[in-house]
Amino acid sequence: MLDFITQSIRSAGQSLWDAVLVLLLAAVAFCLLAVIVKGKEALAAGVRAAKEIRVNLSLYFFDAVFIAPIIALLVELVQRTVRGFGLIIVPPERWEFVGAWGTAVAAVFIGDFFSYWRHRVEHTPLLWPSHAIHHSDTQMTFLTLWRFHPINRATTAVIDIACLSAMGFPQWSITVVFAVRHYYGQFIHADVPWTYGPLKYLFVSPVMHRWHHARDVDGSGSNFATVFSVFDQAFRTYHMPGLCTVPLGVRDEMSPGSIGQLIYPFVAWPKRLFRRRRSENRQQSGTT
Ligand SMILES: [Zn+2]
Ligand SMILES: [Zn+2]
Repeated sequence: MLDFITQSIRSAGQSLWDAVLVLLLAAVAFCLLAVIVKGKEALAAGVRAAKEIRVNLSLYFFDAVFIAPIIALLVELVQRTVRGFGLIIVPPERWEFVGAWGTAVAAVFIGDFFSYWRHRVEHTPLLWPSHAIHHSDTQMTFLTLWRFHPINRATTAVIDIACLSAMGFPQWSITVVFAVRHYYGQFIHADVPWTYGPLKYLFVSPVMHRWHHARDVDGSGSNFATVFSVFDQAFRTYHMPGLCTVPLGVRDEMSPGSIGQLIYPFVAWPKRLFRRRRSENRQQSGTT
C-alpha cells in the first residue's frame, strides 16, 4: 500500500514537472509571437487576460496530474476494443502504398474531418454543458486550448481515437495527428489578427477560430474544424466576415473560477432535464 502511494506521488510529481516544461516552451514561443505582432500592446493584452489565464493554468495543471493519465488509459482501451471486435474498416497494410508522408497527411486530413463532426456534436444540447467551459474564456489566448472539462476531454479522445483506429492508421500516424492538432490548436487560439488571405479557403486561421468563440453572434455556431477550413465550407458552417473584434465567451450562467467551471456540467445537465420535464408536463396538461 505504502509502495502504491509513493509510486502515485512520484508519477504525479513527474507529470507536473513535464507539464511545467511543456508550458514554459509554449509560453516563450507565444510571448515572442505576441511581442512581434503587437509590440508594446502585448503587455497590456497580457494584463487584460491575466484572470482568464489563471483559470486556464489551474485547469491545465489539474488535467496534467489527474486527467491525462486516465485519458491515456481510455485511449488504450478504445484501441484494444476496436482491434478486438474487428472494427477496423481499412486494412492497415493499405496505408503502406501511399508512403509515410501520404499516410501522415491523410491521417491529419481525415482526423480533422472526424473531429469536425465530433465538435458539432459537442455543440448539441447533450454535450454543450461539458464543452461550454472551453468557450467561456473571454480573453482568448493560446492557453485557451488547455481549458477543457474532463468529460469533454474524454468524449474527444474516445471519438477521435475510435475513428482513426477504425481507419487502420498506424500508431505513429495517430501520434502525428494528435501532435498537429495540439500545436496547431494552440496556434489558432492565439490572439493574432491573421486571416491567411487566400489560404483561408484551405486552412483554419486564428481569426476564423476566434469567430467560433464569439459570444453573441451567429459565428459561435460555425467554424468547427481545427486544421482545414474546407470542411466548414463544404458543410456550410464557414463564417469569416473579417477580423473578429466582438465579445467572446458564453451566454450560460457559469462561475468564472476553475472549480465552478468543473462543476458546471453537473449543474447544467439536471437543470436542463428538469426544464424539459416541466415543458413536457405543461404540453401534456395543455392537450388533456
Ligand atoms: Zn466549440
Ligand atoms: Zn477553441
